[in-house]
This record gives sequence, structure tokens and C-alpha cells, in this order.
Amino acid sequence: MTLAADLRLVLGADRVLDHPLDLQIYAKDAGVTPGTVAAVVFPETTQEVAAVVRIAVVHEVPIVARGAGTGLSGGAVPTRPGLVVALTRLNQIWEVDEAAHTAWVGPGVINLELSQHTTPLGLHYAPDPSSQSACTIGGNVGTNAGGPHCLAEGSTVSHILAVELVTAGGDVLLLGGAAPDPIGLDLVGVVVGSEGTMGLVTKVLVKLTENAPEVRTLLLAFPTIEAAAETVSSVVAGGIVPAALELMDRPMIEAVENFKSCGFPLDAAAVLIAEVAGHPAAVEAEAQLVADAGAAAGATEIRIAATAAERDLIWLGRKSAFGAVAYAAPDYYLHDTVVPRTRLVEAMSGIYEIGERYGISMLNVFHAGDGNLHPLVAFDAKEPGMLEKVRAAADEMVKLSIEVGGALSGEHGIGLEKRDLMGEMFSAVDLDAQARLRDAFDPIGILNPDKVLPEGSRCFDFGLVANLDPESAA
Ligand SMILES: Cc1cc2nc3c(=O)[nH]c(=O)nc-3n(C[C@H](O)[C@H](O)[C@H](O)COP(=O)(O)OP(=O)(O)OC[C@H]3O[C@@H](n4cnc5c(N)ncnc54)[C@H](O)[C@@H]3O)c2cc1C
Repeated sequence: MTLAADLRLVLGADRVLDHPLDLQIYAKDAGVTPGTVAAVVFPETTQEVAAVVRIAVVHEVPIVARGAGTGLSGGAVPTRPGLVVALTRLNQIWEVDEAAHTAWVGPGVINLELSQHTTPLGLHYAPDPSSQSACTIGGNVGTNAGGPHCLAEGSTVSHILAVELVTAGGDVLLLGGAAPDPIGLDLVGVVVGSEGTMGLVTKVLVKLTENAPEVRTLLLAFPTIEAAAETVSSVVAGGIVPAALELMDRPMIEAVENFKSCGFPLDAAAVLIAEVAGHPAAVEAEAQLVADAGAAAGATEIRIAATAAERDLIWLGRKSAFGAVAYAAPDYYLHDTVVPRTRLVEAMSGIYEIGERYGISMLNVFHAGDGNLHPLVAFDAKEPGMLEKVRAAADEMVKLSIEVGGALSGEHGIGLEKRDLMGEMFSAVDLDAQARLRDAFDPIGILNPDKVLPEGSRCFDFGLVANLDPESAA
């Protein structure tokens, strides 16, 4: 029997796609690299996920977990004809424990819908990627997603207590638990951010965060991007960790205003969106400190949202930023690196210089508070040689970020996009250790192969590692 025929026996005809047009749709995520799909399945229970994994193993077809496909690094894109397991139908919110501030949810639950569900209880799910109206909790676990409000609250890994996982062998594992400090190895930490290479997550125990009693959102306009970055540094140096600190440059402000008209100042070189949250008295004082830091750095306008509607309008502008780019060009490439906050200005100047040298049109919006940069290149992929130019510029930006003490990725993951740059950050011994861990979960190499780790990462015999000359391993 064929792969599709075997899958239909378990899931029925409707939940298995193998028509070439369908396969084309699922061959891409929100990044720029397409892959090749053998079939797409939509299981609805953990047992069905386990069954399709066993079928894929028998047919020796690679398995690629998929949430909403909003990933930007090619994580959900099969490199060889693969079985895409879409987990969007495992979308139940099983159980909310109001007292413990936790919830068991399916991986297909949409990030924003979880917070909307718990709002009447005064709780929310803190990691809020800008894609939160579409991306899934499973995809967030896969990429260890961040978001504007992760500055104070931490990224996805800080909000996951346990995961149920279907392994490469089709077994069901429960990792972690409700206890604050579960005994044994921290395998939840291994799974979060593993991009579907350790197993398929079928249930997640998330932490919920209490809604802050008071929130103040500020919009500060600056004559230079350096002045905005200086404000970020002095706010944090002043001992405050705001809930969010987001920076946008002029090209991005213009794109957003053309798209949504949120009232962002078009004459500013940069705007900083700052949010402080907590006890009303503390919030008042912290908002004043942010405003003072902005004024000291030369802010030309400091606006404090007076109503919930004004606050929502500021955030609408921020969260529409990537959608707004569709007006600028038919394609975009969204970079993701992270640098130490203290090197932000230097990294930004280097990134603008790379953009100019390659003659590419760039817009910037980023989580400035944690040094997470997202230069966005708007381009037309039909222009010959353009995509290659955009990719070459991207590689230079990543290398620059590493040179100033940063990392390959702030939150979008490694996937295919940055796999071959892993050697810029990790030694051969480091990569071998990661490959060894991956082999422990997936000894047959069937889960999302070709992702995250470059070819040849598993390169040492165990006994040799201890005697390795560190120089030759670097
Ligand atoms: C406009 C826009 C804005 C964005 N803003 C942000 C942002 O602010 N912060 C941020 O972090 N990201 C952002 N992203 C990137 C993306 O939304 C995140 O990476 C998100 O976590 C992906 O979720 P998804 O459901 O779309 O997953 P997918 O793209 O479908 O998959 C992502 C990865 O997770 C794996 N995966 C998916 N489900 C499972 C599962 N159940 N078990 C195991 N592995 C799984 C996949 O194999 C893949 O490797 C943005 C993307 C866009 C398009």
C-alpha cells in the first residue's frame, strides 16, 4: 500500500491530502524557502498522531510537525518528500486551573485565543509573538517563541511546565509536570525550541500570568535612532524592566501609517513604544522615569495613552508592522538576530551599512529591550539575483550580530535558514553534543531531518571526545 492509502485507513479520506496543489501549499512556511511534501495529515488525537508516526516510519518518510506555518526559518518545511503532520486540530483548551494559574492545552490552540479564553479569570498567556492571532502554542513551543512582552516575562520556555510528546517510535511520553521543580533531567527544556526534532508535541501544560492591575503605554518620538536606543539603555540601567520596549525606524513608521493610520509621527526618525505594568503607584513612577529618560535623550514627542482605545491603537500599529510591508513590495525577508542591549547602536549602524552596500530596501522594527533585531527587507523575488542578494546580506547581518557578542537567532529559530551558520557560534564538540542528544530522542533520524544542525554535526566517536585536542575541535 502507498503512504497515503495507509494514512487514510487510520484518518479517513478527508484528513489526508496528497493532491499536488495541496502539497504545494504545505511546502512553505512564512519564510522564503519551499520544500517537498509527500502528504499532509490532520490528526485529532494523540493516538492518531502516534499512529501516523508509525506509518511514516514503516514507509521511511521524514516527519515534519506543523502548526500555523507562520515560522520564518523554514522549520515546518520538509527538505525531502516528507509527511507534514498538521497539529492544528488538536486545539482544545482542556483544563484551566484558576488557583494554580495553569492550563492544559492542545498544540493547535492559537496563541491569542488562549489569552482571550482566560481573560475573564484575570489571567493571560504571557508570550505574545507579533503573529499571535495566527500562530499556535505547538509552534511557539517548537521555536521557543518570544514577543514584545517577553522582555519582563521571559520567552516561551519560561511558561511551559510539561509537554506530552509522540516520539520517533510512536510512543507517548509525558515530560515535566505541575510541580514547580520536577525531579529528573529537564527534558521540557530540551523539547522547547527543538523545532520538531525531538518529537511531536500533543499536549502542553502552560503557566498563566495574572493580568496587571495597571498598565501605561507610551509612544516616544526621536530625531535619530541612536537617541531612541540611548533611551532604551538608560531605562534599563535605571533599574526598570518595562513590560515592553519596542523600536521602529522611519521606513517602518511610514509603512504602518500607510496601512493602518495609527497616528504614529511621520516626521520622527524613530519611535519607541514602552509599556510598564504592575501596581498603580509603581506604574505611575515608572512611566515618568521612561518619559524622563526619553526627554533627556532628546525625544521630540512623548505621548502616554490615556485610554484603553489609545493603548490598543499603539499596539495595533506595532503588531501590524509586518503586514504593512505588503504595501512596500511583493516579498519580504524578516531577519532575526539578537545582540547585547549595550551594543544596539553599533549593531544597527552596521546593519544599515550592510543594507546600503547591497542596495536593498530595509525597514526596522524590533524588541529593543532585549536586543532582538528584526531588519526586514522588502523586495521582489522575480527580480533576477535579488533573493541571493537578500540572503547574502542576511548572512552578513548574522555574522555582525555574533561579532558584537550576540547570537544567531533571537526567537524565530534556526530551521533551514540558519542551520549552516551554526558553526559560526558552536565548536565541533558543541555541535556533536547537540547531535548526540537529538539521536537519543530520534535514533532513526526521521523527525524533521536537515533542520537546526548542519550536516556532519555528529562527528566524534564517544571515546575520542575526551582526548580531543580543543584546537582541532574548534
Ligand atoms: C508577521 C509575523 C510576525 C512574527 N512575530 C514573531 C514574534 O514576535 N516572535 C516570535 O518568536 N516569532 C514571530 N514570528 C515567527 C512565528 O510566528 C513563530 O516562530 C511561531 O512560534 C510559529 O508558530 P506556528 O504555529 O506558525 O508554527 P510553524 O511555523 O508551523 O512551526 C514552527 C516550528 O515548530 C515545529 N512545530 C510546530 N508544531 C509542533 C508540535 N506540535 N510539536 C513539535 N514541533 C512543532 C515545526 O516543525 C517548526 O519547526 C512571526 C511570524 C510572522 C509571519
